[in-house]
Amino acid sequence: MSGLTLLRDAQKIVLDATTTLGCEKVSLLEAIGRVLGEDIIAPRDNPPWNNSAMDGFAVRWDDIKKEHEITKPAELKIIEDVAAGAVATKSVGPGEAIRIMTGAPVPDGADTVVRVEYTEPSETSVRIFQPEPKGMNIRPKGEDVKEGECIISKGTQLGPGEIGMLAILAKSFVLVHQRPRVAILSTGDELADLDEKFDENKIVNSNSYGIAAGVQEAGGIPVLLGIAKDTPESLKEKISQGLGCDIIVLSGGVSMGDYDFTKVVFGELGADMHFWKLAIRPGQPLAFGKIQGKLAFGLPGNPVSSMVTFEQLVRVAMMKMGGHRQLYRPTVNAVFKEKFSKHPDRRHFLRGIVAHEDGQLTVKTTGPQGSGILTSMVKANGLIDVAEEIEKVNPGDMVKVQVLSRIT
Ligand code: AMP
Ligand code: MG
Repeated sequence: MSGLTLLRDAQKIVLDATTTLGCEKVSLLEAIGRVLGEDIIAPRDNPPWNNSAMDGFAVRWDDIKKEHEITKPAELKIIEDVAAGAVATKSVGPGEAIRIMTGAPVPDGADTVVRVEYTEPSETSVRIFQPEPKGMNIRPKGEDVKEGECIISKGTQLGPGEIGMLAILAKSFVLVHQRPRVAILSTGDELADLDEKFDENKIVNSNSYGIAAGVQEAGGIPVLLGIAKDTPESLKEKISQGLGCDIIVLSGGVSMGDYDFTKVVFGELGADMHFWKLAIRPGQPLAFGKIQGKLAFGLPGNPVSSMVTFEQLVRVAMMKMGGHRQLYRPTVNAVFKEKFSKHPDRRHFLRGIVAHEDGQLTVKTTGPQGSGILTSMVKANGLIDVAEEIEKVNPGDMVKVQVLSRIT
């Protein structure tokens, strides 16, 4: 292992090793947040027929136009009532009107609907005080969706709009990509789990929970394997338990002190691994490879480093597995409000707070940026991405920010 590996090279290696999972059918109510595994082609027009956008009267525009010209209200004979869900049995002839409810099909013969507020109906006839323009208040057949059109394409993450549309198209089941199952394992004799009694000199295994949350947020299913002791046997046993999943994520045990031992264990499991000194900060030491066909990541143990490297590598692989079109977080450009300097060798991910200020986006850091300072992630809504070659960022400079959560 010599030199530093660029993050973008590592991402390419990870993505080349990642295959998209297959699909499964789920009911529409279970489909929110899932990624569509098929193109949705409209089986019919929506709306399926010309229908009324108002409660009112379906008329022939010629009748109301004529009356308007001589400034006298038109008086038309009501020949039928059509409720929503009903269909007129008659067609509208000259001098006639059909009472119609919103959503009901526009009867034959009529070309305009006059809203009820512009009329004075009696039992058998209706006076129209204000004419409507020709074609008014009619929603034309197919104005929303045309039969045969691709309405939602494969790879779209389904939100409420898409779910509503699938219901319009009468799809009660939909094909979506399977969710990646991610085995999560922490390593270190100094760790104690949340449900364990632990003494003063132990630290809580927080990484498993932070990573599990990242997995869930990325649409995956976390499988928590607990803590492996710093022994080859323990590590080997736990990793083996995770081989039923699609991805195994370890944290800790890849820094220089543990490196040889982790490497030996991976080797014994038949892994084909890369051990990288990534040119990023935080998160330099990182292992990636395949163990019996499953993706395996060894992330650094420091809580912030494990989250930042999860974001840049594991999440990206999960997105590809899960069938997403967009693998990376959205980015924005924002005006940096501080001074920052670094050596021009690594790409830095500063935890940042992005905000709207005087019509532009600004960003400042969350404060101290040590890799053990998890409050920096708590306060952040973005990761400020400072490229390898950059040495200085001054107040007022534009920076790129990966958006993690809502910008207020
Ligand atoms: P390592 O990479 O194993 O040398 O760990 C680096 C640092 O991260 C050490 O201070 C560990 O105690 C800490 N650490 C490792 N794993 C975890 C974890 N699961 N939760 C919280 N801190 C951890
Ligand atoms: Mg350790």
